[in-house]
Amino acid sequence: MRGNSVVTRSPQTTSGRGSAHFEVVVIGAGPYGLSAGAHLKAKGIAACVFGEPMEFWANKMPEGMLLRSPRVASNLSDPDGAFTLEAYEAVSKTTPQAPLPLDTFVEYGRWFRHQLGSDLDERTVLRIDRDQPGFRITLQDGEEIRTANVVVAAGIGPFKKKPPVFHELSSQQVMHCYEGREVRKFAGKRVAVIGAGQSALESAALLHEASAHVEVIVRESHVRWIGQHSWLHHMGPISSLLYSPHDVGPIGISRLVAYPKIVAHIPLKLRDRIRTRAVRAAGSRWLPERLAAVKINTGRSVSEAKPVGDEVALKLDDGSERRVDHVLLGTGYQVDIAKYDFLPPELTQDVRQLDGYPKLASGFRSSVPGLHFIGATAARSFGPLLYFVAGTEFASRELVSDLSRSLR
Ligand SMILES: Cc1cc2nc3c(=O)[nH]c(=O)nc-3n(C[C@H](O)[C@H](O)[C@H](O)COP(=O)(O)OP(=O)(O)OC[C@H]3O[C@@H](n4cnc5c(N)ncnc54)[C@H](O)[C@@H]3O)c2cc1C
Repeated sequence: MRGNSVVTRSPQTTSGRGSAHFEVVVIGAGPYGLSAGAHLKAKGIAACVFGEPMEFWANKMPEGMLLRSPRVASNLSDPDGAFTLEAYEAVSKTTPQAPLPLDTFVEYGRWFRHQLGSDLDERTVLRIDRDQPGFRITLQDGEEIRTANVVVAAGIGPFKKKPPVFHELSSQQVMHCYEGREVRKFAGKRVAVIGAGQSALESAALLHEASAHVEVIVRESHVRWIGQHSWLHHMGPISSLLYSPHDVGPIGISRLVAYPKIVAHIPLKLRDRIRTRAVRAAGSRWLPERLAAVKINTGRSVSEAKPVGDEVALKLDDGSERRVDHVLLGTGYQVDIAKYDFLPPELTQDVRQLDGYPKLASGFRSSVPGLHFIGATAARSFGPLLYFVAGTEFASRELVSDLSRSLR
């Protein structure tokens, strides 16, 4: 494997105040934060990535899950392309599998993390404050550090959508599909799964396989399955014209969204249509078979959900009723940076926004000088590729070349 040519500048200690001072602090060590860290390190920028590596994937995704993205779109990004999924599998003697199992992806991310060495600190960031020039970062143990730039790579964890109809239920009774990993604890329980996207459908399959009694309730008139026209993917060079290897979005749109710089110049209204079309609810092609014995109730929504002792009484819009033990929501997420608890309101209110998404310029710059956002929060500006691991390559390169120019 090729090595990175790394020239690392150590963080400076600000004499008098005794706190570390970085040029860049990255918040979050998921695919985006780890990739950005690798690119920053290779450029010799004094940076630190904060957070437990792959925490969201390791602790929040359902056990046994398979990645929906193809293998080529599941690589984290490093400048030399040396720390790929394939390189990890070769080093760890892991048999390559498609679709990619969750555990392999988590271990891949943890292996990738090692190239960052001491440029990764597993502590959680509690708060960011402006501290002219730059920012003061407070860590979970109260230590304060200073930095000229902050990159928020904190993922979608706080953005879970919970429809108001479920608000009366306790957190034991209703939970989000990516709020806990243990599927086996539902064995023998009656579970209503709400939604028609990959999270809902895959969770339903995993629950069914774990001996839960599952019913899926879907608002849409039918469930969509990805890859129904799989022959379009097997026409050699013609397929390459129709779909990018990232496979985000349908025919044609898939090609466009692979170029986030172009997407950023499309008028917002059209860009939003492309974004929502590219990520509309659908299940992977390996799910229909696994769901054959699961009841999927289409064209129905829940109009009432009430706790009755340990049970949940559900009423659907056709008047029918159900008693279940749990409700699992696959109802998606809504980006709203105000929900990041480490961003104080006085900072978020200065970030120009598009309905909760930061409005970003090139280099992932927000309207607050020195404050950047990458990952899903950047999807409104740069398109749907930024919702996926496949966007780490573009995000890291753009971000780091912009930062190195401004730091110069
Ligand atoms: C069920 C489900 C399935 C998915 N499947 C796929 C798929 O197959 N392929 C794909 O490309 N994408 C998939 N996605 C989308 C996926 O979430 C993103 O691609 C990916 O996680 C983006 O990486 P990230 O680094 O932005 O976010 P994350 O992976 O969420 O990483 C953000 C990290 O920031 C950390 N963090 C948050 N706040 C702080 C703080 N204050 N201090 C320190 N650390 C903090 C979190 O612990 C987390 O580990 C899926 C999403 C869901 C919900």
